[in-house]
Amino acid sequence: MIDLHTHTLFSDGVLLPSELVQRAYHAGYKAIALTDHMDMSNVDFVVPRLVKAARGLSEHSPLAIIPGAEITHVPPELIGGHVEYARNLGARIVVVHGETIAEPVIPGTNRSGIESGADILSHPGLITVEDAALAAEKGVALEITSRKGHGLSNGHVAKVAMMTGASMVINTDAHGPEDLISRAYATVVLRAAGIPEENIETIFANSRRLIEKVGRT
Ligand SMILES: [Zn+2]
Ligand SMILES: [Zn+2]
Repeated sequence: MIDLHTHTLFSDGVLLPSELVQRAYHAGYKAIALTDHMDMSNVDFVVPRLVKAARGLSEHSPLAIIPGAEITHVPPELIGGHVEYARNLGARIVVVHGETIAEPVIPGTNRSGIESGADILSHPGLITVEDAALAAEKGVALEITSRKGHGLSNGHVAKVAMMTGASMVINTDAHGPEDLISRAYATVVLRAAGIPEENIETIFANSRRLIEKVGRT
């Protein structure tokens, strides 16, 4: 399992980075990105700490541990600046918290997240075909999620992604150890989203490719 969207107690997760990483290792993960919620209040506080945790833990773990960020509930006009700032601070996977149907996310967030050049638009809810097409063009991955609530629109996200050629990744959006999943369960979530068998391996490969890309930088 490669999971590119998780939370630690540097936002609203319940575990320290060190325990989340250990739990992920125990759950059979190969790679994990630490992507805490961030806005203008904490991006400069949290990213350097996740960078520090990832660096310190990586030396002692077979897991690939990637410091990241999830730009969350930031006004759409400010998302691009936050993505850039998080990257400059050392975030290597930048997620933008998309327009999930489970929360009142500001309309226009999906579009802005895609235009910002984030790596992943998480739980993009009822994303439009136009926005998915732009994601395909910009190489922004659309997220299929195992998270309750956010996952209600997985079927829609998968449909428009396949219609437009946008790439997909599957993540947990884990906030605690019970949210970590196996690759077998991830496969079930992808099937449940209506994704045909022949596309499932491609989705796992998309996450591997992202890891390889950020590993080189
Ligand atoms: Zn959260
Ligand atoms: Zn999240």
